Amino acid sequence: MPVERIPKAAAKCACHGVVLEISGLDPGFTACHCDTCQFMHSGPGFGARCNDVKVVQGAELVKKYKPAAWATWHFCGKCGTRLHYKFENEAWKSQQDRYVVSVGLLYEAGVKKFKMANEVSYDEKPGYYCFAGHRPKLTTSETYVQYALDSQKP
Ligand SMILES: [Zn+2]
Ligand SMILES: [Zn+2]
Repeated sequence: MPVERIPKAAAKCACHGVVLEISGLDPGFTACHCDTCQFMHSGPGFGARCNDVKVVQGAELVKKYKPAAWATWHFCGKCGTRLHYKFENEAWKSQQDRYVVSVGLLYEAGVKKFKMANEVSYDEKPGYYCFAGHRPKLTTSETYVQYALDSQKP
């Protein structure tokens, strides 16, 4: 069920040094259980897809790290907040969703009313947690197929 996108949303890092303007934000976000997320976040990654991210303040603070060939994380070099990642893989980078923003930053956009739309890399999830409720759960290989399909969207 497609949920209406939020046209514009603002997000700040913990030290407020970096301010982002996010457009075309999907409030139906993804929980990723992959090993990279477990390592980087010490838990699953919660990411909301969006069309574009503009750094409106603090561009000089933004640092980048590329944990996988297909994505680059952008984080605040002062407070360490993980801001968003950007799809680098040409095959997966749809025009719709080139960026995935950390859901925790989206409090001004009403994040507490957002819905977890799906869970990906479910086969890599540790046994010590699981989320309540029903939603599609994809294995890592199913996730890759889905990303490739999504990228075909205009
Ligand atoms: Zn910061
Ligand atoms: Zn992940």
